[in-house]
Amino acid sequence: MINIVIFGAPGAGKGTQATLLAEKYDFLHISTGDLLRQEVRLQTPIGLRAKAIMDRGDLVGDDIVVQLLHRALQQRSTLPNPDAQEDPWDVARKGPSHRPEGCIIDGFPRTVQQAQTLEFVTRRLKRNIDLIIAIDVPRDELIRRIHERAAISGRSDDTEEVIRHRLDLYDRQTQPVLDYYRLSGRLTTIDGSGEISQTNNRICRVIDRALRS
Ligand code: AMP
Repeated sequence: MINIVIFGAPGAGKGTQATLLAEKYDFLHISTGDLLRQEVRLQTPIGLRAKAIMDRGDLVGDDIVVQLLHRALQQRSTLPNPDAQEDPWDVARKGPSHRPEGCIIDGFPRTVQQAQTLEFVTRRLKRNIDLIIAIDVPRDELIRRIHERAAISGRSDDTEEVIRHRLDLYDRQTQPVLDYYRLSGRLTTIDGSGEISQTNNRICRVIDRALRS
């Protein structure tokens, strides 16, 4: 069982890579962006609160995001109770007896405060975040990719002004999270400027090494 956090600025391809890795290694994939978009689609009270914030490219409040993350972990677990016999991160994604090989979290944490919350949650669940992978892509390439994605995704936060704001927020709020993890020695930075498969191969090498150790 290995627990991974994947980082990347908007357009770095963290969602794409997390999906590929979840498929290849049979990991549970939790994307806070996807969880939020689902709430918006279903027009739930959370979705209605989050939509305007997401459309502006701002960060949704920790109360909402942490609640969704918790719920995702709980829904996929038998019992979130740390004293329970069942392992709370053993997920019934493919049936009640199926045990995924690990978990990959994408989109969380985005602030140092969220990183501290994640430490707290994982400690309660008697788990560690074993690996933090940051996908590094130059800013020009990020903007090019987001424009490309905007043409097909129809995401309401993929407009020019919002994209720049989201990239600025990433620099200001999320880069410090990487410094926080760098200090703990668990951070690996991957060159993500090439093709999806090249980046994927680089990440797989890091994961394979971690799985062997
Ligand atoms: P993403 O799909 O990861 O790019 O996230 C899309 C949007 O969802 C972000 O621009 C934020 O508005 C919101 N969001 C996703 N994850 C978080 C988080 N951990 N904290 C706050 N807002 C988030």
